[in-house]
Amino acid sequence: MRSAGNLWTRKHLLGMAGLAPEEIDTLLDTAVSLREVNRRDIKKVPTLRGKTVINLFYENSTRTRTSFELAGKRMSADVVNMSVASSSVKKGETLLDTLANLQAMNPDVVVIRHPESGVLEFLANNLDAALVNAGDGRHEHPTQGLLDLLTIQDHLPLLGQKSFAGLVVAICGDVLHSRVARSNAIGLKTLGATVRFVGPATLMPAQAAEAFGVTVHHRLEEGLAGAQVVMMLRLQNERMNSSYLPSVREYAAFWGLNRARLKLADPNAIVMHPGPINRGVEIASEVADDPERSVILEQVANGLAVRMAVLYLLCGAGVRR
Ligand code: ASP
Repeated sequence: MRSAGNLWTRKHLLGMAGLAPEEIDTLLDTAVSLREVNRRDIKKVPTLRGKTVINLFYENSTRTRTSFELAGKRMSADVVNMSVASSSVKKGETLLDTLANLQAMNPDVVVIRHPESGVLEFLANNLDAALVNAGDGRHEHPTQGLLDLLTIQDHLPLLGQKSFAGLVVAICGDVLHSRVARSNAIGLKTLGATVRFVGPATLMPAQAAEAFGVTVHHRLEEGLAGAQVVMMLRLQNERMNSSYLPSVREYAAFWGLNRARLKLADPNAIVMHPGPINRGVEIASEVADDPERSVILEQVANGLAVRMAVLYLLCGAGVRR
């Protein structure tokens, strides 16, 4: 841990971009101190009693939505899940009107997932409640970035690292459509890691090297060589509006992570994936289920702790504003 005390002063968590190393440390340290609650027999503390959290998800979600709900409940907040499918959004209400109506009920935190990149910045200027970005289009997914940082931090000693400085992380696959790749690259670079984007040219953002300070690799074998952390990404078909690949079968053959390819990475390398995984496409089951290498379920467990930390800090607990 590098932080000196609680350095959280922000109202919203919109992205990893702009967070100082000390702010990331505060979030991770808070998650570490809260995660013990999830291992207790009675998994509940009164910390956020009387606070209200609204989850507003305009896109599908399993892990993120469940863990925000559990995070709030384990800290005794009142949590409301607004299901867009059964709300007035389906009757044509605009996002801003929906927010204004939710605002009238005076929630403390609104957690939003939305398909439009960058929509959160606009909403933040129009909302009194604290806003958490739970994924906006291909832009950012900061709590995923944080849970990934926490998971990597847990493994630093085994990777022979004292800190993130110089750690080699390969983020592989459909980088173009991935908010996970963006949030991770930004957070990892902020903490001093060396980041590689690895994927076919058609699935790589323009000017990735300049924009993110990463190296770009168009062969999986090259990108994996010596990497200490291998982060695989799902093909985000829902964000593809044209043909980026000859076929999924060919993609799996060239870009799928299997045991043989993983041998090219550092011998202690960990394998990560934000989920949902597509078995046999970007990752083979022999790797995804390998207890020696895969930390995918640790990521999920850390996701809960990170979301508890985010709600805790945004609800003003222990904050110097
Ligand atoms: N669950 C992550 C996200 O919402 C990754 C994915 O969907 O592939 O971005």
